[in-house]
Amino acid sequence: MGDTHINSNKVKSILKILDELYPDPQCSLNFENPLQLMVATILSAQCTDERVNIVTPALFDKYRSAQDFARAPLDELEQDIKSTGFYHNKATAIRESAKIISERFDGEVPRDMETLVGLPGVGRKTANVILGNAFGIPGIAVDTHVSRVSVRLGLTRAKDPNKIERDLSALLEKSIWVKFSHQLIQHGRRICTAKKPRCSICLLQPHCDYGMDQATAKF
Ligand code: SF4
Repeated sequence: MGDTHINSNKVKSILKILDELYPDPQCSLNFENPLQLMVATILSAQCTDERVNIVTPALFDKYRSAQDFARAPLDELEQDIKSTGFYHNKATAIRESAKIISERFDGEVPRDMETLVGLPGVGRKTANVILGNAFGIPGIAVDTHVSRVSVRLGLTRAKDPNKIERDLSALLEKSIWVKFSHQLIQHGRRICTAKKPRCSICLLQPHCDYGMDQATAKF
């Protein structure tokens, strides 16, 4: 069950402030088609989007189709993506996924959750990023920022990303799912950081469980 106790006014207030703070949030990975977004999202695991964006221009210039990635010698692809970390696993996932896309889907990235999560290296988060940003299909991509900020705000009590996605989906209109994910990611990077959330300057603080606890603890 989701967190049905959450006051709808609290949710409305949070959404309004997020819209004021981040009116037009975008995916921070650079891509020109669904395949590029899939590759960039796989590369972004345990790596900053900035680093991925440094690596991808030459990568996408060299490998232009799923077939190109599928045919790449593993050691060469590893070298091409090395600076994003975990390069062996990432290169394997990219190559194997590209192989499936090339052989079974005519080179086109599938546009449904069930098929996407069947690709190596593609979990629900990556699938939601692809669906939302490449195909305009609503999905809440629960990464480390979305998990942390939504728990602190009190929008979910879950720890598992799939359960967090389920709770947030139940609370929010489908039409804002993609935007909301980007807004929480931006807020998590700028204000609600993992090590030291900056509650004293956060506009969400009056509506945030963690922020209110911090404020009360000072008195
Ligand atoms: S009040 Fe603090 S914990 Fe809550 S969202 Fe803002 S920075 Fe994060």
